[in-house]
Amino acid sequence: MGTTDIAKTATPELDAVIVGAGFAGLYMLHLLRDKQGLKASVIEGGDGVGGTWYWNRYPGARCDIPSMDYSYSFSEELQQEWVWSEKYAAQPEILSYLEFVAKKFDLKKDIRFSTWVAAADYDEAGAFWRVTTHDGKVVTARHLISGVGVLSTAATPVFPGAESFKGDVLLTHKWPKEGYDFKGKKVGIIGTGATGMQVIPVVAETAGHLTVFQRTPGFAAPLMNEPLTLEEQGKVKANYTEYRRGAWGSFAGVEFHRTRPSALADTPEQRRAHYEACWNDGGFSIWLGAYNDILLDLKANETAGNFVREKIRAKIKDPKLADKLVPKPGVVFGTKRQPCETNYFETYNRDNVGLVDIKAEPIERLTEKGIRTAGGEYELDALIYATGFDAFTGSLFKLNVRGRNGKRLQDHWVAGPHTYLGLMSHGFPNFYTVTGPLSPSALFNMPLSIEQHCEWIADCIAHMNSNKIAAIEPTREAEVKWVSHVREIADETLLPAAESWYLGANVPGKARVFLVYLGGFQRYKQVCDEVVAKGYEGFIQEPMTKAQAVA
Ligand code: NAP
Repeated sequence: MGTTDIAKTATPELDAVIVGAGFAGLYMLHLLRDKQGLKASVIEGGDGVGGTWYWNRYPGARCDIPSMDYSYSFSEELQQEWVWSEKYAAQPEILSYLEFVAKKFDLKKDIRFSTWVAAADYDEAGAFWRVTTHDGKVVTARHLISGVGVLSTAATPVFPGAESFKGDVLLTHKWPKEGYDFKGKKVGIIGTGATGMQVIPVVAETAGHLTVFQRTPGFAAPLMNEPLTLEEQGKVKANYTEYRRGAWGSFAGVEFHRTRPSALADTPEQRRAHYEACWNDGGFSIWLGAYNDILLDLKANETAGNFVREKIRAKIKDPKLADKLVPKPGVVFGTKRQPCETNYFETYNRDNVGLVDIKAEPIERLTEKGIRTAGGEYELDALIYATGFDAFTGSLFKLNVRGRNGKRLQDHWVAGPHTYLGLMSHGFPNFYTVTGPLSPSALFNMPLSIEQHCEWIADCIAHMNSNKIAAIEPTREAEVKWVSHVREIADETLLPAAESWYLGANVPGKARVFLVYLGGFQRYKQVCDEVVAKGYEGFIQEPMTKAQAVA
C-alpha cells in the first residue's frame, strides 16, 4: 500500500508504534500487546534489545543504582526468578537481564531491529501516525510512543583537525562489540563525568600510558560495589512487594535509611559522623540520602561539599595533582549528577596515568599523532570520547516528529521542551514520551520511572478504546501551566545554577530549561492519577468518527 492510499484510509495498520527496545520499549510492548491484545510494534536501531545497556558497552560500564532496585517491578515471577551477581550490576549483566525479559515475554517477534525512524507525521484526517523508517518503509499506527531514552544521543565535540588523527577513535556510547585491546598503547580520554570516571580506571590497568584531558574536576563518591549473595537477595525477595513500596515512596526511587532533616541542625561532630556513615554506605547515599537540605541550602551544601573534597584529596598522593582533581571552592556539590566511582581517584597515583588540565592548557587541535594543547603535543594511539549526551531532546528530535499542521517538535520546543506531565505535547496528538522532559525521569530510579509512565500511557490508550476516542492531546493551557510549575519547583533548589545536562548547558546553543520535575515522585504520580480521575483533565479528547469506531 502506497503512502497516499494509507492517508485515505481511516484505519491505521497498527495500534501503536513504539520507538526503542530498552527498558521502556520492552515494557510498553508487553503492556499493549499482552495485556490489551493490541497490535504494537517496536522499531529499534540496534540489532538487539537493551537500549542504553546495548550501546554503552565501554569497559567499566556499570549501574549506580542497586541491582535489586534497578529492575522491573511489574512481574513478581520475573523479580523472583532473576538472580543478580553484584550489588551494582555491570553492563553485560543488565543486558543479559533485558535479553532474558525479552525472551520470557516473547517480545522479539514484534521488534524490528537495525531500523531507524526517519520521520513521523501525524495524519489529522485519520488521527494516526505515519512512521517512515530509514529504509523508506512506512507504517501507520494510531499511537506513537517514544521509548528512546533520556541519554541516547551523544554530544560529541568536534575539535579542529579531528579528521587528521590517524589513531583509533573510541566513543563510549558506541563501543565496539568485539571490545578493544589497550595493551601497551598510548591512550587519551576526553571527559571525566560518570562515564569517564568508570572507564578511566579500567583502561589504565592495561594501557601503556593513559592521558586524561580534564576540563572540570567533579565530585564523586565511592560506589562500594560488592558481590550480592543469594542470601542477601533472598531477604529482599522474601518481601519484595514491601521493598518496592519503599522505593516507590522515596524521592529517588531507591530508599536511603539514614536521611536527616538538616545539615545545619547537627553539630559539626554529628555531621561528620553522619557523612562518614553515608560515605561508607556508598553510591548516592551522601548526595541524596544524607540531609534533606543539601540541594536546597547553600550553607548546608557547603558542609557536604567540603567533606567530599577532603575525602577525594585523601586518595591522591601528589598534592599538586590533588589540587587539579578536587573541585574548586565555590563549586556547588551535587548540582550536577554525582558520579559514583571505583578506584577512580587512586588511578592517578599510577605511573602510567597523566592528567592534563585543559582549562589551563586548552586543546588547540587534533593532529595526525594525537592532541595538541596550548602546552604541547600528546602522542596517542587511541582517543576515547566520554563527552556526554544531548539529553532528553537529542533523540526525540532525530525522530523528525511533525504534529498538527506539519509542525515540527523542534519548533514547538524552540524555547525548551513544552510538555504536559512530561508525557505529551500540545499539537502532537497520540504521541507519548516515556520519561520525557519535565517528568521525574532521570532523578528517579529509571526502571520504576519507566513503569509508571508506560502504565499511564497504556491506561490512557485503554480509556480511549473503550470510550471511542480517536485522539488525545494536552491543551495549550495545561502545558504552559506545567512548564512553569516545573520551573518554579526547580528554582526552589540549587540545581538550576549548575552547567549540567539537566539544564541542557552541555550542548552549545541548547535552550536552558531545567528538564526534570523535582517535586518528588509521589507528588508527580498523584498529579498523573488525579488527571485521570478527573476524566483526563487538561487534555482534549477527539471522538472517533463512525468509520474509525467500526474499524
Ligand atoms: P557528562 O556527565 O555530561 O560528562 C561529560 C564529560 O565530558 C565532562 O567531564 C565534560 O566536561 C567533558 N566534556 C564535554 N565536552 C567537552 C569538550 N568539548 N572538551 C572537553 N571536555 C568536554 O556525560 P557522562 O559522563 O556520559 O554522563 C552522563 C550521564 O549518564 C550521567 O550523569 C548519568 O546520568 C549517566 N551515566 C550513568 C552511569 C551509571 O549508572 N553508573 C554511568 C555513566 C553515565 P565539563 O564537566 O567541563 O563539561
